[in-house]
Amino acid sequence: MSQYRAVKGTRDIFPGEISSWNHIEKVIHRVAGLYGFHEIRTPVFEYTELFQRSIGATTDIVGKEMFTFRPEEKGRSITLRPEMTAGVMRAFIQGNLAATSPVHKLYYIAELFRKERPQAGRQRQFSQFGAELIGVSSPEAVAEVIGMMMQVFADLGVTGLRLRMNSLGDVKDRMHYIKALREYLEPLSALLDEHSRERLDKNPLRILDSKNPEIQAIIADAPRLHDFLGASAIDDFEKVLHYLDEKDLSYVIDPLLVRGLDYYCHTAFEVTSSELGAQDAIGGGGQYDGLAKQLGCKSDIPAVGFAVGLERLLITMEKQGLLAHVTSERPQVYVVLQSHELVAHAVGICDALRKSGIRSIMDLAGRSMKAQMREANKMSAAYALFVGQDEIQNQVFGLKNLVTSEQDFLSIQQIIERLEPFSESSQKTSDE
Ligand code: AMP
Repeated sequence: MSQYRAVKGTRDIFPGEISSWNHIEKVIHRVAGLYGFHEIRTPVFEYTELFQRSIGATTDIVGKEMFTFRPEEKGRSITLRPEMTAGVMRAFIQGNLAATSPVHKLYYIAELFRKERPQAGRQRQFSQFGAELIGVSSPEAVAEVIGMMMQVFADLGVTGLRLRMNSLGDVKDRMHYIKALREYLEPLSALLDEHSRERLDKNPLRILDSKNPEIQAIIADAPRLHDFLGASAIDDFEKVLHYLDEKDLSYVIDPLLVRGLDYYCHTAFEVTSSELGAQDAIGGGGQYDGLAKQLGCKSDIPAVGFAVGLERLLITMEKQGLLAHVTSERPQVYVVLQSHELVAHAVGICDALRKSGIRSIMDLAGRSMKAQMREANKMSAAYALFVGQDEIQNQVFGLKNLVTSEQDFLSIQQIIERLEPFSESSQKTSDE
């Protein structure tokens, strides 16, 4: 074995798995289209300040999980993106998208990087799909974003997910709550674990989602965020829930749900999967009305978004047997050569078939007919097309259906006419 290994926390996706990824991505693109979202792609790295400013200096991500480097000794620091919202908002502002329309619906499928301790469901390079609805964050907009996320899960056939909902209120509500939470926790700080004690200073809200049962017991008697919400926050949240009911989406209200990042306000949500172990969050999101201003805009631009981890989605689907039927496109024709001297003819025949959109394979390694047939079957090719001296002389070729074993003798033109209706190009036209 070679001494060269993929970096810990990263992984290769081999051809055997790629069809599952393509399947998921195809559903995402389709559902995003149904909801009128447009794809956005942003650079893999950004200036470090962008993440410090948006995600928040006290969060775990900025505090210890970013891959940061300085390409030039005295140049600006750069960070591999640990999440997408900051980059999308930066692009939105830089590209002055607000000038073209008051509302933008953007989505992405992207690779992210976090220096976390690698474990099941936690990698250092991972993928997310997500959406950002920028320009409005009305309860309708929030419900639309959640609806799109849940439709992706439903269309993929995923079951057993739990949608948890909470309202974080506006910045003022949250400040009052954080003050009350601190006042409650400070006298108890000796009972807190080290992690929670650290958070008490920097980001006490995060103590609410501690997995430690002793901390959970302390939190059980803590002041409730809900009691600090203003009337409009409560009203908005109730509307969101009402729209979810209209969409027949079930959810639970979880008063302890807080999101890790600083820029969230009002509705926050998370989806967990019972198929995952300790890292059971499959995705989450919420409103982030203040982010644009934080990044230098003159005024707030309301926005709402979510992100779903694709590796965890894939694990869930695998456990539910939803990937067994997903296979890569098999070849339609395997051109079987009687002898290798005729290879130039196979080159020409494959070329003619492929130009007509018919997926065609030929042997590139000078193997025996028997070996070629074995490979055609292994690849689940639909037909074998036999090329020998006589066939070339008469320009009539045996086309064998590899499922029924029926064989017809046809010219290349006739073969094309027979298979073209099932070809890639005709499928594309009928999809459009
Ligand atoms: P977050 O941006 O932390 O809310 O993450 C959103 C989703 O991305 C999570 O629910 C996970 O599904 C996924 N995710 C986050 N961090 C990782 C990671 N290190 N490895 C794999 N998936 C992750």
